[in-house]
Amino acid sequence: MGLSREEVFVIRRIDFKESDQIVRLFGRKTGVFSGIAKGSRKLDSKFGSTFDLLNRAEVVYYHGSNLNFLSEGEALDNWESLKRSGDAIDVGLRCAKTISVLLAEGQTAPRVYDLFRATLEELDAHQEGPYLLEVAFYLKSLKYIGFDPDFDGRCLSCGAELDGETSLKFSPRAGGFLCDECKRGEGLKLSQGDRKNLVKLKRTPQSRLRRLKVPEEKLALYYRLLNRFSEYHLERELIPRSLRSSQGRGGALS
Ligand SMILES: [Zn+2]
Repeated sequence: MGLSREEVFVIRRIDFKESDQIVRLFGRKTGVFSGIAKGSRKLDSKFGSTFDLLNRAEVVYYHGSNLNFLSEGEALDNWESLKRSGDAIDVGLRCAKTISVLLAEGQTAPRVYDLFRATLEELDAHQEGPYLLEVAFYLKSLKYIGFDPDFDGRCLSCGAELDGETSLKFSPRAGGFLCDECKRGEGLKLSQGDRKNLVKLKRTPQSRLRRLKVPEEKLALYYRLLNRFSEYHLERELIPRSLRSSQGRGGALS
């Protein structure tokens, strides 16, 4: 059995047997993989709280034929401030879920890893207004895995400039905007301001997003757009719950 050491995020965990856990980890080098942490639910476990959700950790594991066996683990970041805010926890957990949805087991995505880390760092530093970070996380993750919606100011079908159009239609099928001639009733209505917001959210680093002022109802609209886009092109929702319904209470870290 080979031995590996890896820096990971804990993105999912399930209780297994009496005192074990199966944990889903997202490694910078190896992508998403699962492993069993024997005895990790015992009070005196050597793992301590290493496998709390969202933690960044260093782990050592053996490759088994079906499952990896975690032999050592140490938390590098446990996001204490983030975990005091229900909204910030919800956003962190939904982003973690999205990583599971977007990436297949073993698919590497170091840029998504760095983006997730930057997102959690921001959530830990400032817990208010976490939805801007969340929508930007989805936009950038889709880009990094090669499913990039197009927010250029041109019609994707005929190439016409859309600058003069006050109301735009985003077509999830086409993955971008269509002009009045081409849209034929299809798509989600957006304004030029929305188009510019989406471009900015995609381009601005997570650490500088806070200076953008985007109302929450706009973020909910962009979230719906990305979910519809992802349903069409990836045949699955980005996350199986709407942004709106999750606002308010929440925060169970299990
Ligand atoms: Zn057109």
